[in-house]
Amino acid sequence: MASPRPYDLVICDIDGCLTPEGTEAFDREALERIARYNRQARAAGDRPELTLCSGRPQPFVEAMSRFLGIGVPCIAENGVWLYDPTTNAYRIDPGIGARDLEAVANITSWMRHRYAGAGAAIQPGKTASVSLYHADHHWLVARLDEIRGHCHAEGFPLRVSMSWYYINCDLVHISKATGIGQLIAAKGFARERLAGIGDTMGDAAIRERVAFFACPANADDGLRTLADYVSPFEVATGVVDILERLMPGPAGRS
Ligand SMILES: [Mg+2]
Repeated sequence: MASPRPYDLVICDIDGCLTPEGTEAFDREALERIARYNRQARAAGDRPELTLCSGRPQPFVEAMSRFLGIGVPCIAENGVWLYDPTTNAYRIDPGIGARDLEAVANITSWMRHRYAGAGAAIQPGKTASVSLYHADHHWLVARLDEIRGHCHAEGFPLRVSMSWYYINCDLVHISKATGIGQLIAAKGFARERLAGIGDTMGDAAIRERVAFFACPANADDGLRTLADYVSPFEVATGVVDILERLMPGPAGRS
């Protein structure tokens, strides 16, 4: 018998999708609707469950997974961790070695000493990547080449990228795409049965791995062109709208 649901899983970014990018309060009403959606998905199997795929450190992803009642492993720290909320098992990507961790420790220490006096800070909680925070986006833009140059000169296997408030250094062989690869290997999902949600170009790695991809209205222009559907609503309200399209019955439009 054909599955009653169009997809088996929705892989969703957190910042800019479930929670605001800035310091605004969470949209508790929308998140509660998503938690109810997930409970129904687990109980009835009539719609794809939602799981998380985020650059955030594992503890933040764990907290979100518990609030949303997620029953499928989540991807944290841009693919570094696969965290299973049903067993509390944390698994670091087996491709991360001692030399990788040493390079991350080195760049962390270098940035801390060099930039701490300028009001920058290392984001707490990460294991095999590092994010440098500064409240002034333009200050970060002015440091990007210097950090890239240092990584190159030292031979660190790190990819240096920017989001609005952070410069992110991630291992070159680890990404949201490899994290999804770990999830697929662990749970046996098929690409044609996966959906995804994201808001910035880092989420193109989710797009690559899923059959149906959607964005909330606040998504970057570049990513919107890769989406099958762009919600007219922003952030978590947009995700609720996207999930409604994946539901059965009159509300489901997919
Ligand atoms: Mg995001």
